[in-house]
Amino acid sequence: MYNESIFFIDVILPIPLEKQFTYAITKAESEFLKIGMRVAVPFGKRKIYTALVLNIHQNAPITYEAKEIHQILDEQPIVNEFQIKLWQWMANYYMCTLGDILRAALPSAFLLESETNVVLNKEETINDLDLKDDEFLIYEALQHQSSLKIEDVTNILDKKKVLPVIKALIEKQAIHVEEELFEKYKPKLIRYVKLNAIYNNEASFNELMNTLNRAPKQRQILLSLFMLKSATKKPIKVSDVLKKSEASSAQIKALIDKEILEEYYLKTDRVSFDNDEIINSKDLNSDQENTLNKISKAFKNQNVTLLYGVTSSGKTEIYVKLIEDVLKQGKQVLYLVPEIALTSQLVNRLSVYFGNQISVYHSRYSLNERVEVWYHVLNNSDKAKVVLGARSSVLLPFNNLGLIIVDEEHEQSYKQFDPAPRYHARDTAVVLANLFKAKTLLGSATPSIESYFNAVKKEKKYGFAELKTRYNDVLMPEIELVDIKDKHKRKRMQGHFSDRLIEEMTEALNDDNQIILFQNRRGFSPIIECNTCGHSPQCPNCDVSLTYHQYKNQLRCHYCGYAMAMPKNCVACGSSELDNKGFGTEQIEEEVKALFPKAKVARMDLDTTRGKHSYERIINAFEQHEVDVLVGTQMVTKGLDFRNVKLVGVMNADSLLNFPDFRAHERSFQLMQQVAGRAGRTDVRGKVLIQTYNPYHKILQQVSTNDYLSMFYEQLDERYNYKYPPIYRLIKVTLRHRDYNKVNTGADWLAKSLRQIFRQQVLGPEFPPVSRIRNQYHKNILIKIPQNQSLSKTKEAILKIKNSFLSIKDFRPIKVILNVDNY
Ligand code: ADP
Ligand code: ZN
Ligand code: ZN
Repeated sequence: MYNESIFFIDVILPIPLEKQFTYAITKAESEFLKIGMRVAVPFGKRKIYTALVLNIHQNAPITYEAKEIHQILDEQPIVNEFQIKLWQWMANYYMCTLGDILRAALPSAFLLESETNVVLNKEETINDLDLKDDEFLIYEALQHQSSLKIEDVTNILDKKKVLPVIKALIEKQAIHVEEELFEKYKPKLIRYVKLNAIYNNEASFNELMNTLNRAPKQRQILLSLFMLKSATKKPIKVSDVLKKSEASSAQIKALIDKEILEEYYLKTDRVSFDNDEIINSKDLNSDQENTLNKISKAFKNQNVTLLYGVTSSGKTEIYVKLIEDVLKQGKQVLYLVPEIALTSQLVNRLSVYFGNQISVYHSRYSLNERVEVWYHVLNNSDKAKVVLGARSSVLLPFNNLGLIIVDEEHEQSYKQFDPAPRYHARDTAVVLANLFKAKTLLGSATPSIESYFNAVKKEKKYGFAELKTRYNDVLMPEIELVDIKDKHKRKRMQGHFSDRLIEEMTEALNDDNQIILFQNRRGFSPIIECNTCGHSPQCPNCDVSLTYHQYKNQLRCHYCGYAMAMPKNCVACGSSELDNKGFGTEQIEEEVKALFPKAKVARMDLDTTRGKHSYERIINAFEQHEVDVLVGTQMVTKGLDFRNVKLVGVMNADSLLNFPDFRAHERSFQLMQQVAGRAGRTDVRGKVLIQTYNPYHKILQQVSTNDYLSMFYEQLDERYNYKYPPIYRLIKVTLRHRDYNKVNTGADWLAKSLRQIFRQQVLGPEFPPVSRIRNQYHKNILIKIPQNQSLSKTKEAILKIKNSFLSIKDFRPIKVILNVDNY
């Protein structure tokens, strides 16, 4: 009696469509299909997409005839009802489409449809002269970026028909097209040593020991190795030998150079633990115990609790106790960290307690690994009881979640900028946990104004627990502000180093302590300026000055990757007097080497951590004290736990403070406190020197006195006065197009329409500091939403205005981006 075309499914397609599409299915298919399964469906003229079933019903679409699906791809749902609920919340709250979220959530191996990427052909060396101008631009861009999409190529060349250029480059064997290119995960490498096999019998070993009579430390190393070896069958880590023998890494190196020892590296990123290696978690001290009790108590009445614990107070050890508890109930734990880089140190630390129940998940994992973790989480399998991951792991298919930990909750990297979904993983985590009636713990030594506000103000929306003492009662580092204006005047500066910093560095190095130097810019010096005419070379695609990179003697754009050789003369007037303005990590590294020729220096920034394993290698080398001075950008500030850092130097605090953003002061405080927190984590008190032109700046005073509360109340006052979060909510509207005039007229129209409804709560339109990126102009409009104004009605109104805007023919090509809770 039923005819075949009365069964339908609504699906989410992995493209930004405002509405779901409906397809026809057979009765048999309707009985087999479940929500959360994938189907292949035709779309448009020729395309086939992988789509996700959202609804199964019998209501034919009214305005179009439903096409039939191609095939069913799953036997079981790969996404469960919790995820679908979460995605619907996200789409609604962050004003994006379910398609955007689907694409962000599913490992692309699940989506069976690929975008074209071009990559460099590493097998061939190409003579630049053989390339035409357009070809050269693309070839050059690929020296700095691992791949380019067709769209990027279009933007770089600023023309539509780029396929002939790509084709020519392929024919010249300069590049090739890869259907799917996925960056392989960079596993952590651990350094091990073993005895050269020729000494493996007793006689030769004894003989060897005799020859080392005059080198007691080296003998000690060999004895320690021997003892470790007889205690376990496993490979011996260099760090363990160092610890046991109390020797230095130079002494081990001497033995390696003499070919008595052999070093080798093993991957341990996907740690596999034997059960006998698992140990009990650490006993908490009384402060930690009290804090844990407070958290548990808060959780009785509240779903979210903020743990405000100073750096090195042992927050991680408290998390471990909470995790143990949840695992006992058979439930899952999500442990969020702001940065992929943090997972490798942490997974080793946690595996000791939880063995193979931990899975790591982030975008740098290979496809297979991500699919594997996905299924473990979906099936609540033992291998993924604890998921340690960055932002995107809130999108995993949990089915029995008990607890989410958001570590370093203040970090801005939890908010995705681009592309959509522009979600905040911390806030999304809270919603996810609520779906399971699970708890969320936010942890930080420098809580975000938002979270602290939610914990102590705003009717105490969140629970609150504090941990004020460092573990082992190590004192908080002593923070000294160094007035470099004054130092310059008195000629007490050498390059960018004040006499105070040099003194402290000398002392730290003499005591064999390690040093971190923080400089917020990479490259050698941000700007090259002509002394004669004042011209500084600009990026042709973006409105920014190019940054000088000494290592390659190049000028590079940090926004689009454009690079050119450093010119000898000013391109504007021909003068040869080109001067450096400002300074970056590369220059600091150079200066340290000149000031302290004996010290081993390493640099950690985007430029040095691009290659395979490079990040891990730097961290490892620093952990194992093969490096004395680590120079780095923001990367060095994040929750890394180093044992031997005595001194931290902030080269120039002013560039942070002067950033044009309402959060700049909050961020500067957090950044400097965090980087200070890397000092003196073991027993000796650390020292922090902050160089600045404005030692009386209130934020620097608050940093140097560890005065979070003053910072909080002062910033909160400003947020009240100037109507910013957490008092007001923000939605940022960005217009983007290649044509400057179009962006301007469009932005004026949009702002005027928004003002008709939101009146003086609309700011702008205004160009951001960098108004052109990759040949696209950007202009922003900011909408401020008071607490008592309905958020859903506000969004409705914005969407309506956006739709009328896009129905105007002239404006249709403009890209309109909505960013809710803009950071
Ligand atoms: P935080 O996360 O607050 O910065 P950590 O959890 O990293 O602090 O703790 C700092 C150091 O102190 C770590 O090396 C940790 O192992 C150690 N530690 C903290 N609490 C304890 C404890 N109760 N017993 C032994 N060691 C501890
Ligand atoms: Zn000039
Ligand atoms: Zn650029």
